[in-house]
This record gives sequence, C-alpha cells and structure tokens, in this order.
Amino acid sequence: MTSKTKLNFSNVGKVVCVGRNYAAHAQELNNPIPKTPLLFIKPSSSLADLSKPIEIPKHQGAVHFELELAVLIGKNLDNPNTDQAFAAIKGLGLALDLTLRDLQSELKQKGHPWERAKAFKGACPVSEFLSLPELGVNQAQDLENLEFSLNLNHQPQQLGHTKHMLFSIIELIQNASQAFGLKQGDILLTGTPEGVGELHQGHELECDLGGALVINTYVR
Ligand code: ZN
Repeated sequence: MTSKTKLNFSNVGKVVCVGRNYAAHAQELNNPIPKTPLLFIKPSSSLADLSKPIEIPKHQGAVHFELELAVLIGKNLDNPNTDQAFAAIKGLGLALDLTLRDLQSELKQKGHPWERAKAFKGACPVSEFLSLPELGVNQAQDLENLEFSLNLNHQPQQLGHTKHMLFSIIELIQNASQAFGLKQGDILLTGTPEGVGELHQGHELECDLGGALVINTYVR
C-alpha cells in the first residue's frame, strides 16, 4: 500500500538541519569535518512547497541550493535507541536547504548565528513524504542505502548516497532529540552532498529520491 504524506504545513514544528554531513561537501566549502553533528534549526515559517515554483530572496547576494534527504518525524522522542528512532520515522522526502551564501560567510566571519542566511521565509522548500516501504526501507540498515539527486537545467548537479553520511540518519535523530527534543511533525534535514551552487531566476530543478519521488520545479 502506498501512503504519501502531503505536509500540512501548519502541523510542522521545527526543521532540524545538519551542516557538513558529507565529507566531500565540507571540503568544497573549505570547512573542517565535524566530530559531532553541526546542528541548526529552521523555523516552520521557512517552509515552502517544493512542488511549487521556488521564490528566492533578491539583492542579498548568492542564493545556494542544497538538496537534502528529509525525514518526517512521526512520534515524540526522548533519548531513543535505534529501534525507537527508526520506528519514529513517518516518511522520507526531499528538501532544499536554501542558503544566502554570501551572507552566511559574513555571519561566520563575525561569529554570528546563521539564521539570517538559512532561516528566512521560504528557505526550506520540502516535498511530500513517502513511507519507508515505498523506498524499500524495512530496517534501520536500509536507511544507509538511499540515493537522491538534483538535476539543474537538465544537467546532473548533485548526487547523494546515504552511505556517505558522516552521521547516519539514526544517529542524527538521536543527537537532535538529545539536543533539542524531537516532536511529532518535526522534520530533520540530513545534510547535502557536494555540488552545491547558485540558484537564479528561471533555473529548472529536477529532484529525485530513489526514482520513487520525482519533483520538477523552477525558480520564479
Ligand atoms: Zn544543508
């Protein structure tokens, strides 16, 4: 049975994101590889529907796309073990962690928080979510065998495989729940693979999760 979950945006709590969860992406931005997950949060006001045209901020420097696997949390979690963390996954989808890169570099230099660069209105377009069986995921281990990709203007741009994550999806759920608490309706973004770049008006994007979820959209 298929059970796609279309997000009811008013029910989403927060979006917990992880920076530098793929070594090759950390390297492309000259960032060190973290020893613990580098977590940050996007508020629910940053959410948008990935299937609709993407709105990007104007006159604030470069806007980067980062395609990421998104995890919809279906249960409240308190220090979950592996089985509990796995059982709390309601679905998997795709999201863009839109980033005002010039502004982020400026904020990083000053040692300031990243929110202005990553938590602006519309900074988190997300897809609908597929249930785990629809993606061939029957146990926690299967989460490490998922592929997702972004084509930009019909050219391959980003190709991610969850086996290349520095911290696995289960580890991220556990770490995020320890750090912030996770509640039903929260979303976890799991980091971007290499190949990030600038988005411009008119760009066409094809986002693909394992061939089971394909979203075509463009920048308005
Ligand atoms: Zn990201």
